[in-house]
Amino acid sequence: MRELRIVKGDDRYAELAAAVERHEFDLHFQPIVRVADGKVVGAEALARWNHPVQGILGAEAFIDESERNGLIVALGSLLLMDALSQLRAWGERLQGTGFVLNVNVSVRQFERPGFAALVLSLLDALEVDPIHLCLEITETAEVVRSIERIRENLQRLRAHGVGIAVDDFGAGYTSLSMLRELDISVLKLDRLFVTRLVEIPHDRKVVAALLAMARGLDLSVIAEGVETPEQAEILAGITCPLAQGYLYGKPVPREPFERRHLRR
Ligand code: C2E
Ligand code: CA
Ligand code: CA
Repeated sequence: MRELRIVKGDDRYAELAAAVERHEFDLHFQPIVRVADGKVVGAEALARWNHPVQGILGAEAFIDESERNGLIVALGSLLLMDALSQLRAWGERLQGTGFVLNVNVSVRQFERPGFAALVLSLLDALEVDPIHLCLEITETAEVVRSIERIRENLQRLRAHGVGIAVDDFGAGYTSLSMLRELDISVLKLDRLFVTRLVEIPHDRKVVAALLAMARGLDLSVIAEGVETPEQAEILAGITCPLAQGYLYGKPVPREPFERRHLRR
């Protein structure tokens, strides 16, 4: 990994690399709910850094930096392991519930030749049913550039029942043909759309059209960043199936997540 280092003598790189080594990262969980009745049907795992001096740091403090310096591959593997271990620990509680844990995966991970095999062997070793896992990929120009390399991994994962979500959909680059080509199963509607739903009536039509398209392509949709009952009501009115946001619950550590959002 050292050859990926951009700036020589970069202290931040050394600090992050040491933190990965010491496993100072943790996952918080944010509920994903059914819009119609608010029932929790899954969660998104979001990375946090338990910094020895600065306390708990949000993703903005290290994800972009790790993407730039290449550490995201090592960090992403650790976080994926954590997420799968969590699914295993939840075990019987999830059986028959259809609960899905969404995990963010960097394009840099998706484009590695053995990525799908790694995920599938971990699921197998931990005896976790692949239907409980959905991997989120953010639509960026990079995805478009490496589409050939990621396609094989995505298709293999999908063939085994792992879900694939396009994150921040609508913010950028995904073409309709790409959704088909990559066998995407879920669209996560960018928060920007949700915030504009209330103010800009035209956006409601755009989102309603997107939902119709998604239904036609057999894709599920999660509206992101839902903060107000008014937004939730509009989403229900245009039959958006799933949502996530502060209205339903903020990302929290495992223990409060279990207490508030998991049965028993
Ligand atoms: P994202 O995947 O789009 O995650 C959603 C972000 O929106 C999270 O920020 C979440 O805390 C925040 N959020 C959720 N609901 C609301 C809401 O109602 N209102 C507002 N204003 N914000 C809301 P967070 O946790 O800081 O993560 C930021 C980004 O970092 C994520 O965006 C994702 O792209 C990246 N990230 C987080 N964890 C991981 C990871 O394990 N691996 C990778 N590769 N990226 C990650
Ligand atoms: Ca995400
Ligand atoms: Ca997102």
